[in-house]
Amino acid sequence: MQNKKGVIEVICGPMFSGKTEELLRRLKRSIIAKNKVAVFKPKIDNRYSDEFVVSHNNNSIKSITINHSKEILELSKDISIIGIDEIQFFDTDIIKICIELANKGKRIIVSGLDKDFQGRPFGIMPNLMCEAELVTKLTAICNQCGDYAAFTKRISDSKDQVLLGETDIYEANCRGCFYKK
Ligand code: ADP
Ligand code: MG
Repeated sequence: MQNKKGVIEVICGPMFSGKTEELLRRLKRSIIAKNKVAVFKPKIDNRYSDEFVVSHNNNSIKSITINHSKEILELSKDISIIGIDEIQFFDTDIIKICIELANKGKRIIVSGLDKDFQGRPFGIMPNLMCEAELVTKLTAICNQCGDYAAFTKRISDSKDQVLLGETDIYEANCRGCFYKK
């Protein structure tokens, strides 16, 4: 029987809701508590930096960019707390990997978009939220009316599910503004 208890924590919500900020807050506290911490992000997300996870308000932490979720297993051997940002971009293997790591007694803190730009569940997120002990769903501020925003609206014409961008391509919307014709 293992003596350490592992856990999976999911931080989700639309763009600009503070997911990365919250991930950084939890990870930095873990570092203060002298835990061995590693932070990963998918190769696809190089909007700000290849070497750091950076929030929209410019908070950051050193991170490792990976191509395939399997690399996390290899790189986490001596690590007790693992952070993963933009987890919605990973393949389905990431769920098994999070479970395996948590079952080894590690704390896994992940953040990602729960919905895509059409308001549909994003990739692996529903399954991961189901596996997690703790799910924190954050809201942004609706760029149209100032209400709580749970949706990410694409303000460009592309129909691809993955289209990297910032305030030039996306805005946060409340339900009413998101579905308004
Ligand atoms: P996420 O990872 O969810 O995209 P970040 O943690 O990177 O979000 O950034 C959150 C920050 O984004 C907020 O603290 C705020 O400074 C900024 N921000 C920009 N637009 C908005 C918005 N529409 N609603 C809330 N915060 C916003
Ligand atoms: Mg983020």
